[in-house]
This record gives sequence, structure tokens and C-alpha cells, in this order.
Amino acid sequence: MADSSVADVDANALLDEANSTSEAQGEPRFTLELNQDQRDIREWVHGFAEGVVRPAASEWDEREETPWPIIQEAAKIGLYSFEAVGQFWADETGLTLPIANEELFWGDAGIGMAIMGTTLAVAAIFGQGTPEQMGEWIPQCYGSPDDVKLGAFCASEPDAGSDVSGIRTTAKYDEAKDEWVLNGQKAWATNGGIANIHVIIASVDRELGSRGHAAFVIPPGTPGCEQGAKVKKHGLRASHTADVHLDDCRVPGSCLLGGKEKLDERLARVREGKKAKSQAAMQTFEASRPTVGAQALGIARAAYEYALDYAKEREQFGKKIIENQSIAFDLANMKLEIDAARLLVWRAAWMGRNGHKFENAEGSMSKLKAGEVAVWVTERAIQILGGNGYTREFPVERMHRDSKIYTIFEGTSEIQQLVISRAISGLHIK
Ligand SMILES: Cc1cc2nc3c(=O)[nH]c(=O)nc-3n(C[C@H](O)[C@H](O)[C@H](O)COP(=O)(O)OP(=O)(O)OC[C@H]3O[C@@H](n4cnc5c(N)ncnc54)[C@H](O)[C@@H]3O)c2cc1C
Repeated sequence: MADSSVADVDANALLDEANSTSEAQGEPRFTLELNQDQRDIREWVHGFAEGVVRPAASEWDEREETPWPIIQEAAKIGLYSFEAVGQFWADETGLTLPIANEELFWGDAGIGMAIMGTTLAVAAIFGQGTPEQMGEWIPQCYGSPDDVKLGAFCASEPDAGSDVSGIRTTAKYDEAKDEWVLNGQKAWATNGGIANIHVIIASVDRELGSRGHAAFVIPPGTPGCEQGAKVKKHGLRASHTADVHLDDCRVPGSCLLGGKEKLDERLARVREGKKAKSQAAMQTFEASRPTVGAQALGIARAAYEYALDYAKEREQFGKKIIENQSIAFDLANMKLEIDAARLLVWRAAWMGRNGHKFENAEGSMSKLKAGEVAVWVTERAIQILGGNGYTREFPVERMHRDSKIYTIFEGTSEIQQLVISRAISGLHIK
């Protein structure tokens, strides 16, 4: 005993020395230990997820409606706000954003998406807008705790899902009035039609494919921007998804994110055959994927925890079902897969936040793994609960339905594999 504690002291002393040397050399110390701020935020979001979100999950799933009162609760405590997302983003390790998302979606994914869906629009404004545009439009995505608002990001169209170059929505510039005129149909837009602010991806030059795209803010109440059919879904049913129609929808020139000068410069570069910023856009997309992966992780962890508790309680053949190796091994593998996915998510989040190039599409890796793990873990959770797992009396059935979207949106699993295979091979795999 005495010997081992001496050894511990020696090891710690060596570790401290190594760390201080690497810090002195300007290299950050490697640690997977969360700092106090990260732990505090995790606890804060977890508390909200456990106390407010989870008890409401089944009700809003059945109602298939936007849970406005819950979003309002989130706004009241400051969780539904740009300040909160800004605070999560400010963490230079990159981990706070995925940690907060995992906790919220552990509470419930449908409500989680009702709260976080706005972030898609905010991220587009933040990523592509000028400081003036950010100041004007981002607060309007959230509203205030007494009058909460939503944002919607609309890229997909009926004929342009995985293949965004197929976008048909057009934006034409009316120079005389300094206005853009948008026409087209957007599909599956989270918060589409009920949002205060819509960010629309439209083509300003169809010949240039996705390089001829630009993003536009549609201010509240703009004529010609209407909700189409609301989609009835398999899961995430507390999150509103709908088509959005743009019919001669006119917006001021100032609604083009980044401004006309920047767009003209970019288009000129593309027309000259130069690479423009498509690589940069790809990098931005890669950077948002770990956050989506973290949401899938939250669902997987919730299902795993539920199944573990259940297996320790449920008795068949005179013993707890977890005493059967097949059940225990399933649970062991569920935990293993969740932890492996989390490491990929954290790695990609750290890389994205610290400007490391995703040489091997690490952002895609994290989302692919987490999405697939969530579907598999929630399916195993149903199996462990048996007949109960298949009913709506137990939450794992809803979790399984909710998990499936994570192999589809923000790039399907096949598209993630395409991105990874292109990155590792340097070839244009089709
Ligand atoms: C609940 C929900 C919310 C959504 N929210 C938003 C939103 O807020 N904003 C938004 O813009 N969009 C949103 N979407 C749309 C979503 O991003 C698309 O559904 C997704 O990108 C896939 O496009 P698709 O449905 O057209 O499938 P498709 O592209 O038609 O793909 C169909 C199948 O073919 C496979 N496939 C396609 N191309 C290839 C290929 N080259 N190689 C191998 N396999 C391929 C796909 O992987 C998939 O399995 C949402 C969708 C849903 C269901």
C-alpha cells in the first residue's frame, strides 16, 4: 500500500513536470477532464432536460406540435438565447456545444430540436452575415422570453436533398429597387413557415451549381413567403417541419447575407475558373456536424440508461434479465459504442473550434458514427424491454423513432461515407 502511494506521487510529479514543460514550450496540455465551466453548463442543461423537458416529452410527441411553453421556459432561464449559444461557442476547447446538446437531447429529441432548430438559421447568419446583419437578424430569431420567436434554415427542396447543386429556387436582383426577388419551393424546413426569420438558400446563377448559391434573410411578415404542407413524421414530432413557398418574394438588398459586393467578387472568381470559397463552405458544414452528432448521442445515452435500469429490475426465469450474458453484453456494447462515438464527436468539435483542417472528414465521421450508434442502441433498448419496449408506455420506442433522422438529415449516412472516402482517397468517388 505504502509502496503504491509512493509510486503514485512519483508518477504525478513526473506528469506535472511533463505538463509544465509542454506548457512552457507553448504546447497545450492534453486532457479529457472537463473544466469547471463545462461541468457547470452540463449540470445546468441536464437539470432543465430532466426537470422540464423529459416530463413533457411524451405529451408533445403525441400532440405533434411545437412546444411553445417549453421553449419559453428555456428562454426564461437563458438557455434559448443567442447569449447561451454564444457562451457554448466561446469555449475554446469546442466541447461545450456538444456537451449542452447531448444533455438537452438526453431529455427529449423532439423538444430538443424545437429549442435548437433555430440555431441552424443563426449559424448561417453568424457564418455568412456582416456584423450589421448579425446584430439585426440574430436577436429576431429568438425574440424575448415573453415573446419567443424561431428561426428556420431552408436549403433542401423536393428535388434537391443530398444533391444541393440541384436547388431550383432562384433569387434575381432588381437593380432599380435594390431588391432581391425569390421564387421556389423549400422542403422539410425545421420551423418552416412558423419562424420569424427564414434563411433561404437560393441560386443566383444556376450555371454555377452550388457555387452560384447565396443565402438570404426573409424578414418577418414578408409577402410571398408562406408555409406549405406541414410534414407528419416518424419521429422528432415535437419539432415542426414544413414546406416553404416563395412566390415573387421581395426582400431589400440588405437581406443578402454577406452583401452584394462580396457575392459579385465570389461569382467573378468562380466564372474565372478559380476555386472560390467552396472549400471554406464545406469546412463550415463539417464543423456543424459534431453538434448534430452530439444530439444523436443524447438520445442513445438516454435509451441505454433506461435499458440498463430495466434489465437490472426485470426478472424472468427467476433472475434479473441482466444476469443473462446476452443482455449484459448488449448493454456493454451499447455503452462502448456511445463512448466511442462521443470521442469522435469531441475530437471533431475540438478540431472545428480550433481551426484544424478536417483532412479526413472528421466532422462527417463523428456525425456518421453517432447517428448509426443512436439507431442501433435505441433498437437494442427496445429489444431489452421486450413487449414493453414496443409500446408508447415506455420511452425507448419514441427514442428509436427520434434517432432515425440522424442517419438522414445534415447529410445522410451514405453522403458522410462519400465525403470521408473522397477525403481519404483524394479521388472524386461517386
Ligand atoms: C425532420 C427533418 C428535418 C429537416 N430539416 C431541414 C432543415 O431545417 N433545412 C433543410 O434545408 N433541410 C432539412 N431537412 C432535409 C434533409 O436535410 C434531407 O432530407 C436530407 O439532406 C436528405 O435528402 P433527401 O431526403 O432528398 O434524400 P435523397 O438525397 O433523395 O437520398 C435518398 C437516398 O439516396 C441516398 N443517396 C443519394 N445520393 C447518393 C450518393 N451519391 N451515393 C450514395 N447514396 C446516395 C441517400 O443517402 C438516401 O439514402 C430535414 C429533413 C427532415 C426529415
